[in-house]
Amino acid sequence: MTASASWFEIVDPTFGHYVLDNAPLKKLAEGFDWAEGPVWFGDQQCLLFSDVPNDRILRYGYSGLTTFRAPANHANGHTRDRQGRLISCEHGTRRVTRTEWDGQITVIADSYRGKRLNSPNDVVVSRDGAIWFTDPHYGIVSDYEGFRAEAELPCSVYRVDPDGTIEAVITDMACPNGLAFSPDESRLYVADTGRAFHADPQHILSFDMGTGRPKGGSLFHRIDPGCADGIRVDDEGNLWSSARDGVHCLAPDGHLMGKVLVPEVVSNLCFGGRAKHRLFITATTGLYAVVLNRRGAQWP
Ligand code: MG
Repeated sequence: MTASASWFEIVDPTFGHYVLDNAPLKKLAEGFDWAEGPVWFGDQQCLLFSDVPNDRILRYGYSGLTTFRAPANHANGHTRDRQGRLISCEHGTRRVTRTEWDGQITVIADSYRGKRLNSPNDVVVSRDGAIWFTDPHYGIVSDYEGFRAEAELPCSVYRVDPDGTIEAVITDMACPNGLAFSPDESRLYVADTGRAFHADPQHILSFDMGTGRPKGGSLFHRIDPGCADGIRVDDEGNLWSSARDGVHCLAPDGHLMGKVLVPEVVSNLCFGGRAKHRLFITATTGLYAVVLNRRGAQWP
């Protein structure tokens, strides 16, 4: 380990070039029960994120913290599509939605082959406009983050074509959670957080996207301590993952480069700010941010 600011832990010396010793880890807001699903809106210079148990989507910007939507159907993960619209996973309604420019809500997916989805958790959009989301059961195992109910479908990863066709593309993971494409979209990373959080498996799998559909599913990295709930990629292909002790930075070959140490369990993260160089971190009851010497990949 190399000496650095106390909120960074350098494992690979290269990580020392990724962080700035004089850039503080700041707590921006607090008072949440489980903050999740951050997404950056550069055009509005604000961040949206969920407080899942409290059934609200919050907005952090120049004017501080405000409520964006409440109730919010126990929304969890968010992203933006290629037209900049908000795409949201909702536990309460067990669906993925798009918020149109006029505020209307369009349902992207709520069932597969006639059966209700479990509780869509996290979502990304690929260059071709397809929407990819994970559907573990966390939102229906209790009434805390949604409404308790029996699962009708196995936990899977789905792809929704721009024409609306929904397809299960990964069906053999325990509980797929966060997901992210490599910058060139040659790989899809999917985190598995196990049947219960902090139970096996706790790893990130790497899928080959050469055929346009995820193939393989080799072990990329096993997160320790904690789990890889949310993941994001920077523009050089490093993967940044949530963990119990903060955010872990993983090189494209899967080895641990270093950590941003956060005093609460981290759920999710995203890049934002003027140059996509500010890492926003949702961590249990708080929202944190730190400026890095790296930039997020082009798209959320
Ligand atoms: Mg998640």
